Amino acid sequence: MRTKSTGKKKINIVTLGCSKNIYDSEVLMGQLEASGKRVVHEERGDIVVINTCGFIENAKEESINTILDFVEAKKRGEVEKVFVTGCLSERYKPDLMKEIPDVDQYFGTRDLPILLKHLGADYKHELIGERLTTTPKHYAYLKISEGCDRPCSFCAIPLMRGKHISVPIENLVLETQKLAKKGTKELILIAQDLTYYGLDIYKRRALGDLLKALTKVDGIEWIRLHYAFPSGFPEDVLDTIRTEPKICNYIDIPLQHINSEILKSMKRGTNREKTNALLDKFREKIPNVAIRTTLIVGYPGETEEKFLELKDWIKEQKFDRLGCFAYSHEENTSAYDLKDDVTQSVKERRVSEIMEIQAQISWEKNQEKIGKIFRCIFDRKEGNYFVGRTEFDSPDVDNTVLVSAENTYISIGEFANVKIISAEEFDLYGVVL
Ligand code: SF4
Repeated sequence: MRTKSTGKKKINIVTLGCSKNIYDSEVLMGQLEASGKRVVHEERGDIVVINTCGFIENAKEESINTILDFVEAKKRGEVEKVFVTGCLSERYKPDLMKEIPDVDQYFGTRDLPILLKHLGADYKHELIGERLTTTPKHYAYLKISEGCDRPCSFCAIPLMRGKHISVPIENLVLETQKLAKKGTKELILIAQDLTYYGLDIYKRRALGDLLKALTKVDGIEWIRLHYAFPSGFPEDVLDTIRTEPKICNYIDIPLQHINSEILKSMKRGTNREKTNALLDKFREKIPNVAIRTTLIVGYPGETEEKFLELKDWIKEQKFDRLGCFAYSHEENTSAYDLKDDVTQSVKERRVSEIMEIQAQISWEKNQEKIGKIFRCIFDRKEGNYFVGRTEFDSPDVDNTVLVSAENTYISIGEFANVKIISAEEFDLYGVVL
C-alpha cells in the first residue's frame, strides 16, 4: 500500500469548500510535514490531493471540474498521482470511481490515516493540534467539533461528516497556545453547529466555558464565532461575549428562513417568533453586536407570498452581514422527498433580490460609520491599499477597511486604529490615527 515513489516528491494539497475543509487540509499538511514530506498548498506538485466539497450543486460541480483538470494534467504528465478526499468523495465514492477511474484513489472524510499511508507517511497521534496553517499567520480557524446531529431537511452534511463529536477543551486550549506561539492573534471558531459544543462529551452546552478558557491564552486578541444554531442557543454565551473584551461582538448564525411553515419543513426546531426573540436577545445583551446570517431561497413550497415575508423581514432586521443561497435538491436528504417546485430561474431571481436589499442595508449601515474610529487588523496590501477588517468582519466573507498606502505604512497582521472617512456598500475607507 505504501507508495515507494513519494520520497521527496512535492505533494500539493488543493482545498475546496468551507473553512472546515481548510482546517482538515492544514491537519493533513501538518502530518505530512511531520513525516518529512515536501508539502505545498495550491502550488505545482508531483502528487496532488484534492480536498473536495459535496454540499450543494454548485460546489459539487466545482469539485468535479477540479478533479477532471488534474486528471487531464496527469495525462499530460504534469502530475504523477491524483488523490481525492473530502465531502464529495465521502458522499459519492462508488459513482466517482466508475465515472472518473483515472484518479489513483478516493478517500472519505474520516480516512486521514489511510490517505497518509498512500502518501508514504504515518499518522502521528501525538500531533493533535499541530497543523500547517494556510491562512495569513495572524488569524487561524479552530474547529471545535466534527459532524452534526441536527436533522435539517435540506442538508447533506451529516451524511458526509457523521455524528457530532466535540474536541475536549484542554486539547483546544493546547492547540490555541501553539497557534499563538506561531503568531496567531485572531482565532475563528468553526464547527457544523458551534452551539452544540459539549453536549456529547460534557452532557451540557459548554461553548461558554470553552470561550472563557480560550480568552486566557496569551497572544490571542480576537476570538470570533461562526456557525451558531438558533434553537437551544446557550444564552450564557451572550454574557461571555459582552464581558470578555477578546471575544468579537460578532455572531454568525445561519437562520435559513423566517416563515414558520418553511422552518418547520426544514426541521430547524424553531419558528418566526422564537427566531425574532433570539435576535432581540442578542441585541439586548450585546448592543453593538454584528449579526451575520445565511438564508436559503426557493425551498420547496416557498410561494411568492412566503418570499415576500422573507424580504420584509430582512428589511426589518437589517442584518450586518448576510449571504443567500438558492435551494439545492440534494438526494438522501429528507427534503428530497418534497417536490422541488421553485424553478431555477425563480430561485436565482430571489437570491439577487435578497442580495440587492442587503447591499442597500449594508450601504446605509456603513454610512453611519463615517467619522467613527475602529480597531482594525490588516490582512494584506492590494494595489495602493492596505486591506483590513474591524472586529465586525470575518475574513473573506465580510466587509473590508481600506487605507491608502500613499502616505501610510501598516505591517500586515498588525492592529491599527482607523478613522472612517468614506464608505461604500461593502467597503470602508479610512485613515490611521
Ligand atoms: S446544523 Fe443543519 S444545516 Fe448545519 S450542518 Fe447540521 S444539519 Fe446541516
